[in-house]
Amino acid sequence: MIIYLDGRFVPEEEAKVSVFDHGLLYGDGVFEGIRAYNGRVFRLDEHIARLYDSAKAIDLAVPITKEEMAEAIKETLRKNNLRDAYIRPIVTRGVGDLGLDPRKCEKPTVIVIAVSWGAMYGDLYEMGLRAVCVSVRRTPPESMPPNVKSLNYLNNILAKIEANYRGVDEAIFFDTKGYIAEGSGDNLFVVKDGAIITPPTLNNLRGITRAVVLEIAESMGITLLERNLGYFDLYTADEVFVTGTAAEVGPIREIDGRVIGNGKPGPVTRQLMAAFKTITQKEGSP
Ligand code: PLP
Repeated sequence: MIIYLDGRFVPEEEAKVSVFDHGLLYGDGVFEGIRAYNGRVFRLDEHIARLYDSAKAIDLAVPITKEEMAEAIKETLRKNNLRDAYIRPIVTRGVGDLGLDPRKCEKPTVIVIAVSWGAMYGDLYEMGLRAVCVSVRRTPPESMPPNVKSLNYLNNILAKIEANYRGVDEAIFFDTKGYIAEGSGDNLFVVKDGAIITPPTLNNLRGITRAVVLEIAESMGITLLERNLGYFDLYTADEVFVTGTAAEVGPIREIDGRVIGNGKPGPVTRQLMAAFKTITQKEGSP
């Protein structure tokens, strides 16, 4: 595997960062998760814009231009001969001392990793996922904004651990006010009486798949609502699904033991799954 590291393409064995890198010591950095379909990177500009916005929000100056980042991503894909892939650009604060002060870090570290990737949930796209609402809370907007895709994913990992212990596929996060935020690595939607409802993006990551799904739903003439949601909305929804670069559109069939709808992916979710697939294949065609 060939990795992009600070301007060079190196074999995986040589792609090493210092133990003094603040990305490792403090989770001080940002990242993206991007898909390529048929050798074409899906919504690259949007992902790069979000990466640079995340960096700006934590006062991290990415040492290469957006154009150079786009080229590094595409070249990593080419060098690994990948067509259907998951791509992970990372920018850390760089090497400093053991103190917190970012001024001690002279140069951010830039990494791009790309791996072969297929459907994340396999059969579960047909069967539907089981989820639980977890006790750990999504980072509240009044501390680090959830819109920053930072290297601090400990809350998300704790959510995943809770879902693992409870024997289900996905975790649903709430914020500190009791509103639904999102899944462990994806945005959440409910379908009720034909309308699609999703929380506003103050307490969750402004998902790029979320935006694509909203575009699709709008083009299909489906009513869209962005409003806060609670447990009741979740348990009594006709359909629930999550969206994310890795998960794509993932139907949820059960939450905290409550069967959602008829316990199978519902008609609106299925329509959106099909349309999302069409878009990724179309935009992914040379
Ligand atoms: N929420 C979180 C916490 C995520 O990590 C992700 C993945 O990037 C998403 C939502 C979905 O965002 P996107 O559709 O841009 O991948």
